[in-house]
Amino acid sequence: MCKRALFTIVVLLVISVILLQHPVKLKPGNGQREERILILFNSLFEESITAKRVFKWIYGTMWRIPVDTYDVFLYKINSTWLNENLPRYSMVIFLDMMNGQSTLGDDTWQVIFDKDDRITYIAYGYAVNDVRASKLFGCSSAKRSYVEDIVLIRHWLTEGLPSQITVKRSEVVATPSGGQAIITPWGAPNEALLVVKGNNAWIGLTELGEGLFNRYSYLLSIVERLLALDGKVHVHIQLPERLLAIRIDDIPFSTESWFWRWQYFTPQQYEKFFQILEKHGAHVNYGIIPFNVSKEDGKWISYIEIFPETVQVIREAEQRGTVEVADHGATHVTPYQQRYVEAKTTNPLDLTRIIRFEFGYDPVLKKPIPYELQKEHIEKGVGEVEKWFGKKIELFIPPWHVWNEATEKALAEEGIKVFSGDFRFRKGGYGQPPSVMGEKSKYGLLYVPTTHSWDLARDGSTDTIKYYIGSFLDHGIPVVLLSHGRNWTFMKYREVFSLSNVDSTLTKLDETVKPDYATILQIASKLEQWRNTHTSIGMGADVLTLQIAAPAEMKVKLSIIAPPGYKIEKIVLNEEELDASIRILSLREGENKVVIRFTGEAALQQPMYPLTILLVAAVVVSVTVAASIIFALKKKEKSAKYRAEVRKKSLRNLD
Ligand SMILES: [Zn+2]
Repeated sequence: MCKRALFTIVVLLVISVILLQHPVKLKPGNGQREERILILFNSLFEESITAKRVFKWIYGTMWRIPVDTYDVFLYKINSTWLNENLPRYSMVIFLDMMNGQSTLGDDTWQVIFDKDDRITYIAYGYAVNDVRASKLFGCSSAKRSYVEDIVLIRHWLTEGLPSQITVKRSEVVATPSGGQAIITPWGAPNEALLVVKGNNAWIGLTELGEGLFNRYSYLLSIVERLLALDGKVHVHIQLPERLLAIRIDDIPFSTESWFWRWQYFTPQQYEKFFQILEKHGAHVNYGIIPFNVSKEDGKWISYIEIFPETVQVIREAEQRGTVEVADHGATHVTPYQQRYVEAKTTNPLDLTRIIRFEFGYDPVLKKPIPYELQKEHIEKGVGEVEKWFGKKIELFIPPWHVWNEATEKALAEEGIKVFSGDFRFRKGGYGQPPSVMGEKSKYGLLYVPTTHSWDLARDGSTDTIKYYIGSFLDHGIPVVLLSHGRNWTFMKYREVFSLSNVDSTLTKLDETVKPDYATILQIASKLEQWRNTHTSIGMGADVLTLQIAAPAEMKVKLSIIAPPGYKIEKIVLNEEELDASIRILSLREGENKVVIRFTGEAALQQPMYPLTILLVAAVVVSVTVAASIIFALKKKEKSAKYRAEVRKKSLRNLD
C-alpha cells in the first residue's frame, strides 16, 4: 500500500515537472491577445493631427503594427470602449489632450483608471495639465520653455543613446510627481521631458513629432521601446535593407543660375562625379529642369540645345544605372512668366521673388496656381525629359518643394508614379499636403521624400551621421540625401558642391552607417511591396505569434523589443526552427507564421493562462490527495501496530 502511494507521488511529480517546463500548450492565435495600437486624436487641433501622423507613420507604416485611430472631436467615446471592445489594445496614445484639456467624459476616465494593467498609455504635450492625466502619468504643470541641452537618465528606454543631447529649442516640460523622469533638461532637476509611471509614459519632447525625421532621429529607439513598458516582449518587422539615395536638383542648370551666376559641373566634372559614385556602388537621382526661360522674350529653350555635352554625359551614366532621372518641372519658373520678361530690376533676389514657384501657389498673386497652367507645365516638362532619355519618366520632384493637390492630380494623369518632395507631417506654408515616406497621396503617388541634407553627411562627425542618418537606417526607414550640384549663394547662404569631398563623404557613410545605395525608384518599389505586407501579432505570456501576409517572396527584419530579464528561446518560421540569433526572415508569398518562444525571469512573472493554471492546480490537488492518503495509511498502520502491541501487552498481563 505504502509503495503504491510513493509511486503515485513520483509519477505526479514527473508530470508536474514536464508541465512546468512547457506551461503553455496553446495553438498560436488561440488564447493570445492581438497586438494593436489605438490613437485618440482631436481633428480640431492641427498639432493633434500632426502627432497622430507621426505615431501612425512609425508604428503602422514603418513597423507594420496595426494601428486604429479615433477622432474624439467627431465621435464620442463611451465608458465601455476600452476594456470591452474588441480588439483590446496593447498601447493607447492620447493625443486629444495636447492643449491640456481633456475631451474625455468622467465615465471614460473611470474606465481609464480601472484599466486592464496590460495596456500602456502614452500622453503627449500639455496633456498632464488635466488633473486626472497628471495623476496617471506621474507629472503635472506642463509648460513650454527653452531647452539648451537634455540629459538622458540611465534606463533601459535610453540604452545605447548618448547621455546628453543639444536641443536648443523650446520644449514642453513638466514637474515629475510620483513618476520617474527619464529625460530632463540640463540644469533643471525638477523638470522632465519624458516621465514614466508604471507602464504609462508622458512625452514632452515636441521633437518626437515634426523634427524626429531629421535632427533627433535617434530618439526613434525610445519610441520603439515604449512598446515594452507593459513588461512584455514585443515584436515587429521592418525593411531589412539600409536604403539610401542621393538626390540632386536643378540639373543641368536653372533659369535663376543666369542672374545668380551659379556654377555647375563641366561635362568632365560630371564624369568624374559618376566615377566616384560607381567606386562606392552608389547612385544619384537627378531632378531635371528641361527648359530655360529667356529674359528677352520669355521663350523656352531646351537645355539640350545649350549644354548638349552635359546632357550626353548624364545620358550615358543613366544607361549604366548610375543616374536615375526625375522631372523637376518644365522651367522652375512661375507660369506667369511675363512678369520676368517685363521686370526692370537686375537684383537677383528680386528676380527670384518674381519667378518663384512653378506649381501649387503663386506668392506674388497670393493665390493657388490654376490646375490648367500646372498641367501644361507638367506635360511639357515630363515630355521633354522623356525625349532626352528615351524612356517613360515615373518620378517627379516639385521645384522649391511647393505643390498642391492640383499638382498631384495632373502628375497622376501624366503617368507619374513616385513623388519626392520634402518630408513633412503637417501642411506646408503654401497649402502643400503632408508628404510622408512610404505613404500615398490622394491620387496614388507614392511619397519618397528627402530626409536629410547632403551637407549633414559631408560636414557631420561620425557620431552625427550615426545618430541622425544611421538611426533611420537601423529602423528600416529609407534615407534620401538632398543637394544641388552647384556652387551657389542665395541671400547670405553659400553652398559649395565640390568634387574634392564627394569621395571622403561616401567613405564616411560607408564606414559609419553601411548604407545599401539605391535610387528613389528602387526605394519606391520596396516601399510599394512593403505597403502590401500585412501583419497581425498575437501576444501570450511566453509565446508570441506573428502572421505575415506577403505580396511576394521577400525578406523582412525581425525587431524584438523586451524589457530586461527576457531571453529568446526559439524562433519558428513556417514550422522551421531558426537560429534564435537570426533576425532576417525569408518569407514566402502569401501567409507566413512566425512563432517566438521566450524564457527568463520576467517571462515567469507574467500571469499564467487559465489552461496552465488548471493543469498546475490539478497537479497540486493530486499531490495533496496522494499525500493525505499516505499520511492516513501511515497513521492507520501506526495505530494498528499500537493496538496490536497493546493487545499483546494486555494478553501478557492476562498471563
Ligand atoms: Zn529646384
